[in-house]
Amino acid sequence: MSSTIAMISLGLLVGLGLVEFLWIRLLQKNSYPWADVAASIGIKIGRRLIKLATAGLLAPVYFWAWDHRLWQIPLKGIAGWATAFMMVEFAYYWQHRMHHEIRWMWAAHRTHHSTNWFNILTTSRTSVTGLISGDWLFYVPLAWLGVHPLAIFLLIAVNLTYQIWLHTEMVPKLGPLEWVLNTPSHHRVHHAVNPRYLDTNYGGVLIIFDRLFGSFAAENKTDPCRYGLVKPETSHNPFVIVFREYVAIARDLYRARSLREIAGYLFGPPGWKPDGMGATTQRIRAGIDPVS
Ligand SMILES: [Zn+2]
Ligand SMILES: [Zn+2]
Repeated sequence: MSSTIAMISLGLLVGLGLVEFLWIRLLQKNSYPWADVAASIGIKIGRRLIKLATAGLLAPVYFWAWDHRLWQIPLKGIAGWATAFMMVEFAYYWQHRMHHEIRWMWAAHRTHHSTNWFNILTTSRTSVTGLISGDWLFYVPLAWLGVHPLAIFLLIAVNLTYQIWLHTEMVPKLGPLEWVLNTPSHHRVHHAVNPRYLDTNYGGVLIIFDRLFGSFAAENKTDPCRYGLVKPETSHNPFVIVFREYVAIARDLYRARSLREIAGYLFGPPGWKPDGMGATTQRIRAGIDPVS
């Protein structure tokens, strides 16, 4: 099953990537960001290799939680699968949100936001270091709550495959679908650095948890999305892109003078500084710090 989803995912990436290439070159008459796309593909290959090397490391943790489950969600009918799907969506929302709000996690997720363009191949630029950032910490409790680990893996794969088509400017707003689903419009906002769009729209397949927990922002045509990072990434070298924030953290930790500073540099929001003068989302939104 997982290999079927991997094939669908690759097919979507290549097929939609090709359609988008033609759209950019023939209809938009723009140049195609080859260097950017090459870096995205390089990162995807790196992620694949790391996944192969670390495959099976986390499975025992999930199955340990499953062995100690409180109850069991039956996966024989629609109701059980719908419950499991909503639970995975909920966990995805919080792990994604924390990957924006905690610098140690952001160091991994930053890779996904590092492109200054926004295209189908951006999907390939996913975190390579999820194992140490701790994204799995949000999913393991689902096994304890009674979702079978294989169902969790399957639903995460479905969630990530769904998100491929979100990474494009080809698709306009989609009417009432925008109320419930995560759409290209919502995800353009998620990848934008306009102050009003920063740290919004964390959903996977659904957008309802953003609406529920106050992190939703709608795309506004009067404020067109500017993609990338608050401090734009200038390199196309996959190694530099993946490890840049870890190096910055190490540099800050070397300078740290107290436990409070160590904790702040690791677990404070991205941009945190001991004197409170760092360019965090909060300060950028308040208009105190500009976006580079
Ligand atoms: Zn994100
Ligand atoms: Zn994305």
